Amino acid sequence: MSITTTPSETLPITAPLGLTSSARQGTASATLAMNELVAQRRAAGQDTLHMGFGEASFPLHPKLRTALADAATRTSYAPVLGLPALRQAIAAYLARTRQLDLSASSIIVAPGSKPLLYALLQVLEGDLLLPAPSWVSYAPQARLAGKHVIGVATSPDDAHQLSAAALSDALAQARAMGANPRILLVNSPSNPTGSMFSEAGVAALAGWARENGITLISDEIYAELAHGWREHVSPARFYPEGTIVTGGLSKPVSAGGWRLGYATLPATESGVRLLTAIQALASEIWSAAATPIQQAACVAFAPDAEIEAYVRASARVHGEAAQRMHAALVSLDITCPRPAGAFYLYPDFASWRPALAARGIHTSEELARHLLQERGIATLPGVAFGEPPDTLRLRLSVSMLYGPATAATGDEHEAALWRLLTQAGDEHTPTSALPLPLLGAACARWTEVAQALA
Ligand code: PLP
Repeated sequence: MSITTTPSETLPITAPLGLTSSARQGTASATLAMNELVAQRRAAGQDTLHMGFGEASFPLHPKLRTALADAATRTSYAPVLGLPALRQAIAAYLARTRQLDLSASSIIVAPGSKPLLYALLQVLEGDLLLPAPSWVSYAPQARLAGKHVIGVATSPDDAHQLSAAALSDALAQARAMGANPRILLVNSPSNPTGSMFSEAGVAALAGWARENGITLISDEIYAELAHGWREHVSPARFYPEGTIVTGGLSKPVSAGGWRLGYATLPATESGVRLLTAIQALASEIWSAAATPIQQAACVAFAPDAEIEAYVRASARVHGEAAQRMHAALVSLDITCPRPAGAFYLYPDFASWRPALAARGIHTSEELARHLLQERGIATLPGVAFGEPPDTLRLRLSVSMLYGPATAATGDEHEAALWRLLTQAGDEHTPTSALPLPLLGAACARWTEVAQALA
């Protein structure tokens, strides 16, 4: 190979550490950035009510702790697609809990479902249809992968369900503008709204995707955390040949820091080609999820009455906390879809607009900043979820509000969370009896905000 050289004096003078144009536009994920801001405020002694970060924060189940300790010496790299035993355990788990008929060979395991979502967006062709609002990372990931993102409108009036009419409108408009949408990404239970699709809604959505030849990515990371009044149904039940399901350990067993996620791909020829493409990408970027974590994850996905009871108890706490916060917001005349799963609420502060405008607050970002600086309440603005800036919606997370009112040590805090889980695990005890003092204080803080604005 010959390289034509240019005399050095004609080369432009460049500084080191230059960035690509896409990297120059990137900012840290809104949710992780807020978590760091809260940590800084707390370190500076500023009282902060943390409703800005979606972390499932229960203590780790002892069986998982033991399994991880036992696997500590597994220091070899795992296969790129994941340990065969884990892929098998996930296939069996999804058959048991979601009636999905999958073989282990169409499952890929990775350090979190987030990199898998990015890998999928990187290798699948076409632009992305994305409901608004949607989780903060989908749109930035799609843009990093060079895709156009086409928002699909939803409304709080029907708890942000996704209608075939709205999907067809978005598809037609996108095509008219020269885009080529081939992928739809949905997330039920939803971050940020806590809403879930009804079974009929899921069937309609899957039917629409099949009719239009659209690949459906169903992010089911919160599937285990349904609150009990709506059942989680995967669109893969209706459209197995075109649906990819993602999930992981972060939410059901409160192990976000373990970084363990999976994706299931259709068992078709195109599914196999997709698996090969993701395997190639994974092999060049992350190689494999950590081997000891994968080994311990086998225990999390295996049938185990104790771990299943722990997951059910944590879902009951998330559900009770979300319902209490919902009741508090509604009593303050704030519109908010009733959450059905996960640990989020997505109130709309439109009824406060005149009072907020009088204080110079016109956007969700200004509202979130005001609440943090003046009231010590950390939230995330609707604009981070793809909503127009002047929509006065915020995402509230209740999952950091389950601890005791005070705890002198981390051990005391953890012991209180175990007591809460034990109480929630007794299905004869009404969830209304669960002690949630921090959540009570949060409801009171919102009442103060409403009174100050009145
Ligand atoms: N999808 C949604 C909707 C999430 O809220 C999160 C984490 O907050 C993820 C995916 C990422 O999960 P993981 O920890 O498996 O990467």
